[in-house]
Amino acid sequence: MRVTAGSAPSLTGGSPNDRIRRNNLRTLLSILHHGGVHSRAELTRLTGLNRSTIGALVGELTALGLAYETEPSETGTVGRPSPLVHANENVVALAVNPDVDAIIIGVVGLGGVVHKRVRFQTSGVPTVQETINIVSAIVEGMRGELDEKYHVVGVGLAVPGLVTAEEGVIALAPHLEWRDEPLAAPMAAALGYPALAANDANLGTVAERLWGIGRGVQNMVYLNGSTSGIGGGVIVDGHALSGARGFAAELGHTSVHVGGRACFCGRTGCLETEVSLVRLLAVLGRESIDADELEQIIASSDDPEVHDEIERQLDRLALGISNLISVFDPELVVLGGFLGTMFSADPERLRQRVARASFTRLAEGVRIERAELRSRQLLIGAAELAFGPLLDDPAAVAATAIAPRASAV
Ligand SMILES: [Zn+2]
Repeated sequence: MRVTAGSAPSLTGGSPNDRIRRNNLRTLLSILHHGGVHSRAELTRLTGLNRSTIGALVGELTALGLAYETEPSETGTVGRPSPLVHANENVVALAVNPDVDAIIIGVVGLGGVVHKRVRFQTSGVPTVQETINIVSAIVEGMRGELDEKYHVVGVGLAVPGLVTAEEGVIALAPHLEWRDEPLAAPMAAALGYPALAANDANLGTVAERLWGIGRGVQNMVYLNGSTSGIGGGVIVDGHALSGARGFAAELGHTSVHVGGRACFCGRTGCLETEVSLVRLLAVLGRESIDADELEQIIASSDDPEVHDEIERQLDRLALGISNLISVFDPELVVLGGFLGTMFSADPERLRQRVARASFTRLAEGVRIERAELRSRQLLIGAAELAFGPLLDDPAAVAATAIAPRASAV
């Protein structure tokens, strides 16, 4: 499994001409999927290919069921207007995000379009088998709609834990209490679609970089905070950092307080034990909270104890961010979940503390922003994982998964 946020590896097999054609199809589909609707003229300009080649490639993507064309509006154009090319948003991936109290399933189309989002509340922390059973039942319930309206290319699983990249095995998901559990293969067998799994925050990072606040950014650090702790992801030179086993960017387990609280991971003073929604909720006298309500309380509370706790957490977060700036030299640091909420309450404080804690020249010009995609982020990220093989070689995947049905309809 490879989470693509940059250029894909070279295609192999076939004649040189065939490889060039497949590579051009890949480039074109990626432009339409990540960049939205383009006219043929714009595609010609962006790719440097000539008009007749673009025409042939668009024709092939259309025949494969991956794209369609519409007539442009005539207003303001000089000469013959160029048809508009769209990625087919009815080519979809199923996105699955198991969490401690719910399983969230999405139907996400090319172009990052979230067609459907289903949140299934569980009575407790679901086991792997329960997760597979629940997802199977929900997908079975949608079967008629999926078969009639959509072309499903695969399933992307966003899991809060350490996921071995190639095998789709959950090495450890502490909050779900999953350990060395194969997930991708049994899910694929149960649903009848290919399935891939990866860490949820890594996938959220990719989504935020492609469709959120990180659009066009080549170097980015993302930190997300929830009741399960802090996860993150890193984009380096346009590529999502994966690591030798796929465990990279466990940013919640970097040290920000020597001698701080013990973390379940075996260390003390980890970012996620010092900057913690659970600790904030304890000060608020709450066990759980809706994101909107938290936003309102943080913005309006005049309780000094709440204020002090938010300031303490923002200062520790600033230390964590300054460490990450030293390691990764990002253009942009993105904050999601309750980290984004705390940041919005006092953005200048966090920015100043980061500047103060950092090697000055390294932190200069680094932007700190709140994530944009919110509840759609993990679904879009998980779908991107499932779309990976299609985006790598559209002709090969679509020929078996999409085109036969598209042409039969
Ligand atoms: Zn830790």
